Amino acid sequence: MNEDWKFEKRRSRLVDELREKGISDERVLAAIGQVPRHRFVEQAFLGRAYNDEALPIGLKQTISQPYTVAFQSQTLAPERGERILEIGTGSGYQAAVLSEMGAKVFTVERMKGLFDRTSPLLKSLGYHVKTRFGDGMEGWAAFAPFDGIIVTAGALDLPETLLNQLKKPEGTKSGGRMIIPVGPRHEQTMRLVMRVENDQFESIELDAFRFVPLLGKTVG
Ligand code: SAH
Repeated sequence: MNEDWKFEKRRSRLVDELREKGISDERVLAAIGQVPRHRFVEQAFLGRAYNDEALPIGLKQTISQPYTVAFQSQTLAPERGERILEIGTGSGYQAAVLSEMGAKVFTVERMKGLFDRTSPLLKSLGYHVKTRFGDGMEGWAAFAPFDGIIVTAGALDLPETLLNQLKKPEGTKSGGRMIIPVGPRHEQTMRLVMRVENDQFESIELDAFRFVPLLGKTVG
């Protein structure tokens, strides 16, 4: 039996909570108000699906905290139809939120166990997200360039291959942008990097976050 309706109230409370915490982009809030986060968490954590917390998804990985998803989505600010590459599919929740906002989402996951679970889940929920099993450090050359790249694991520094898959600025059109947490294992600073010229990038530092690490090579 479908019991999704039971979660609606809790989901709208989560939206209120995110608003109180400073998320102001109505498109982001509307998307979070739509995406059934309880479908992206393990059965054991169903009761906590709409708490503003990260939760384990197996294989030592986590579904990001809703505030973090909202913050990254708000900073990335994808327009409808924009091509967005996500590194670190994990549960698929962040990809679903961006898709709900109208972006064309491409997402890469390095763990086969997560990829095999998440790809069919996104499909079954009706999200048209393109998923790939591979090392996200390499980006996704076949679908590049991207309007935006969102990295949802902590990087030690800026991966050059990803920077090069951002759209170049053209005439009055600005180049692509990337939102990425950068720093050592215990804490990262969220950075927004913009391609301002063919070979020139500008970066601003935002708040501190804590992510699972961005690692190379695939597993499984
Ligand atoms: N966006 C996810 C967050 C998952 S946690 C969500 O909404 O649930 C980060 C994910 O990044 C993990 O699944 C981890 O396996 C993956 N990851 C880490 N390094 C990676 C890499 N180099 N390429 C692709 N995925 C990577």
